[in-house]
Amino acid sequence: MKYKSTRGQVAGIGFIDAVLMGLADDGGLLIPESIPQVDADTLTKWRELTYPELALEVLSLFIGDEIPRDELAELIQASYTTFRDPEVTPVKRLSPERAVLELFHGPTFAFKDVALQFLGQLYAYISQKTGSVIHILGATSGDTGASAIEGVRGKEGIRICILHPAGKVSRVQELQMTTVSDANVQNLAVEGTFDDCQRIIKELFADVSFKKEYHLRAINSINIARLLAQTVYYFYAALKLAKDGESRLPNFSVPTGNFGDIFAGYLARRMGLPIGRLILATNENNILERFVHEGIYEPGEFRSTYSPSMDIQVASNFERYLYYQNGEDAAKTAAQMAELSKSGRIVVASDVREAVQADFAAYGVKNAECLEAIRVCHADTGYLLDPHTACGVAAGGRIAASGELTVTLATAHPAKFDESIQLVNIRQTFPAPIAALFEKPQHATRVEGSADAVKDELLRFF
Ligand SMILES: *Cc1c(COP(=O)(O)O)cnc(C)c1O
Repeated sequence: MKYKSTRGQVAGIGFIDAVLMGLADDGGLLIPESIPQVDADTLTKWRELTYPELALEVLSLFIGDEIPRDELAELIQASYTTFRDPEVTPVKRLSPERAVLELFHGPTFAFKDVALQFLGQLYAYISQKTGSVIHILGATSGDTGASAIEGVRGKEGIRICILHPAGKVSRVQELQMTTVSDANVQNLAVEGTFDDCQRIIKELFADVSFKKEYHLRAINSINIARLLAQTVYYFYAALKLAKDGESRLPNFSVPTGNFGDIFAGYLARRMGLPIGRLILATNENNILERFVHEGIYEPGEFRSTYSPSMDIQVASNFERYLYYQNGEDAAKTAAQMAELSKSGRIVVASDVREAVQADFAAYGVKNAECLEAIRVCHADTGYLLDPHTACGVAAGGRIAASGELTVTLATAHPAKFDESIQLVNIRQTFPAPIAALFEKPQHATRVEGSADAVKDELLRFF
């Protein structure tokens, strides 16, 4: 399989080069040259596979023979033995019409581990095969940072620097990142929002000579390997439900920020996985909800909510969807992205808007509604939702028709967001690995929100 850019100036590169490139050199995002197709017979066979076996099948379609199958199998095995649940991503039923797909059984208790444990293994593999250093640079709204650090801490040949918005991540998220004492880890607490962090990263990666000189690599969800790893659990959940005798096609409700997770669902459907609706759940930062309803993509004012990992106005993976929506027209996509940076918005025609609405239903969950979803679910079922998952459950409840089955992606464990859980007067017991964090010393450097300031810190660290 070869990869190409959504803006048309990069093409014909292999999987490993696509992983290493992160953001495409023309400023676009990398995508496979074609979407592999999975037929019904294959899907039926895949029902019998364990999570790592399934991941091997799905990822092989995108990697081909670039990584020998037995080596890829080892990488996948190493990625998922760190998960606490034998099923890796189990589906739990809450009622006849509702289920959650628990994606938080990895080391940092959020779904980011599913992709970043794999990407960490992949980077170590590449570094070892090529004998090259890998400098990872990433921005986080909270969960990615901890998860990426956990994926590569202490690994030889790899250094990692993570930017997070100072004071705008949850206490546990901050502790998970900053209590790591391995020398190959640097944390920068940036004065600004997550969007500022993401902009800085984009600027540094766009500086192609700097990127090349320092072997800068991305871990943000612009990295194609993450999206591919995330398609696996859509297959896993849908096939598991079918195997257990479920005859309805499940809707998936996806708590959305950067559009990575839901894009993986879109990709799974384009590969031939039969699913119901893809429900795009946002919080009050609802640029994507507005896009689906109005056909206008325009960042609004930033709001802090109970679901900080979704406090995002510029969804970095959106361009990939735009590209497919444009019938894979790279020139048109590049022009729209140029329009976005010039005028601050993209407006699509009404026929495109209708096509978007055929792909996604969307709902923006208000703060009060998020807390209410946590309270009601806990009262009705005893199941404690984290605030991100709660947005997904609330959106699913708004959009799904009676009788449909909606699976919400449970993107984090509630212990990561106890600040919000306390607001609904629910007391939870922290899992031991989280409770232990409060005792450890923290390591982070505060830095002003500009690319130059971050570059200075990086030069010191590398
Ligand atoms: C990252 C994250 C999201 C948003 O996922 P995207 O792929 O950015 O859309 C939702 N919930 C949690 C807990 C997250 O960490």
